[in-house]
Amino acid sequence: MTDTRQVTHTFVDCIPEQLDQGVVYISIRYALVTHLCCCGCECEVVTPLAPREWKLTFDGATVSLHPSIGNWSFPCKSHYWIRNNTVAWARQWTDEEISASRGPAHPTDRTVRRKRPETTTLPISSKWWVALRKRKRGRIQGT
Ligand SMILES: [Zn+2]
Repeated sequence: MTDTRQVTHTFVDCIPEQLDQGVVYISIRYALVTHLCCCGCECEVVTPLAPREWKLTFDGATVSLHPSIGNWSFPCKSHYWIRNNTVAWARQWTDEEISASRGPAHPTDRTVRRKRPETTTLPISSKWWVALRKRKRGRIQGT
């Protein structure tokens, strides 16, 4: 698999079950942006749009996401920006750096333990995401 360097974007109502590599799916309705990890590992990256999460910039032709996308929860641990539909690869963090940003291995101070990299994407098993998918399925099959 090769790295994706260019993406296209598509505005959708609901996020489709099957995602295409190199496509950024934007659901304004759910304030949610999803794409397959740009390294080609096919992990689904979910970036919720919120004041304290990600921001989407749409200039009429291309989209940008801020801050960077840090897939620490994936095996590939890829880290990149999406700017004007272009993937800008960031230096990969080492395991030490990731764990350092999460706090020491044996934190003595509770405030340290809560720390996480600002750009960490949510694991796909997040409750709200599962709930969203269920809701979507429910509506599709709806009786
Ligand atoms: Zn990846």
